[in-house]
Amino acid sequence: MKIIDFEEFAQLESLIEKLKPYADIEVVAHAPGKEKSYPIYVIRMGSSTKNVPTIGYFSGVHGLERIGSKVLLSYLSTIIELMPWDHMLHSILKHIQFVFMPIVNPAGMYQQTRSNSNGIDLMRNAPIDSDIVRWYHVWGGHRVSKYLPWYRGKAGKPMEIEAQALCDVVKKYLLPSKVSLAVDLHSGFGKQDQLWFPYAHTRKPFPYIAQALELKKKLDQAYPFHVYRYEPQSIRYQSHGDLWDYLFYEHEKRAPEHFFMPLTLELGSWAWLKKSPKHIFSSLGIFNPMEEHRRQRTFRRHLVLFDFLTRAVVSHEKWVNLDKNKQQDLYRQALQLWGLTDE
Ligand SMILES: [Zn+2]
Repeated sequence: MKIIDFEEFAQLESLIEKLKPYADIEVVAHAPGKEKSYPIYVIRMGSSTKNVPTIGYFSGVHGLERIGSKVLLSYLSTIIELMPWDHMLHSILKHIQFVFMPIVNPAGMYQQTRSNSNGIDLMRNAPIDSDIVRWYHVWGGHRVSKYLPWYRGKAGKPMEIEAQALCDVVKKYLLPSKVSLAVDLHSGFGKQDQLWFPYAHTRKPFPYIAQALELKKKLDQAYPFHVYRYEPQSIRYQSHGDLWDYLFYEHEKRAPEHFFMPLTLELGSWAWLKKSPKHIFSSLGIFNPMEEHRRQRTFRRHLVLFDFLTRAVVSHEKWVNLDKNKQQDLYRQALQLWGLTDE
């Protein structure tokens, strides 16, 4: 008899069975847990042409934020149902590649902790220090003790297996593409669903801030009733050791001529808490909608965004390759809109 470890893991393994005819499935690492280790799965679909535009989805970096994984698994179920008959999806997949890493931190999810089984917060674990996080902002990452949340791990140590696995996947499948987007799903901060582009460690403008604004304009125009607050992460939440900031610098070192933009989709859990205040007393309730109807609404809510981002990757030349004047104009607008300076 197979032991089902936790709901999301069992769901992922059963989806993988159904995806086998359409996707490449890989175990990229094993995450050590207290009693056993867990495979970390990566699913790839679409064009196998070298350096094809790629969109990567990541979730479950923080073990308590299960809703992010559930949203991605629900998206994968939709894709499985569409694959046998949807010509449009097949023609999209001729032009781009999808990469999914739905449970980055399985041991944390199993043991119901934010961190992995070594007590390390994976999203604080990259070798990158912030110039804006003060010592008393412990949530921005610290090296005091693994018994406090937001622990970065010891200085100079290699990254944790799970963090390294995520970085390896991005380096292998996203950075070699001429255009790639990453979407990393989290939950628990704020009332509204937020879409953040880099940086988390500094208030300096992200080098592709003009493209980030152009993408925002396209989202606002095509879907004027969308729910997202879209801005640089540093406005809301600053931290040390952010994997995406680190990966952006890796991109600059390896292939600066390519376009890579990581986005964090932070699902605003405070609205769920307002509707069910009793869940403030449960560690999962702070980060996840606990009622079924609210969960289903959350699954539906983000399909529009995923569809938009797919279109944006397919038609990337319309917003990534800007002429010089437009680029400068958008850059100035972006600094003004988000209150940043480039000094
Ligand atoms: Zn998180």
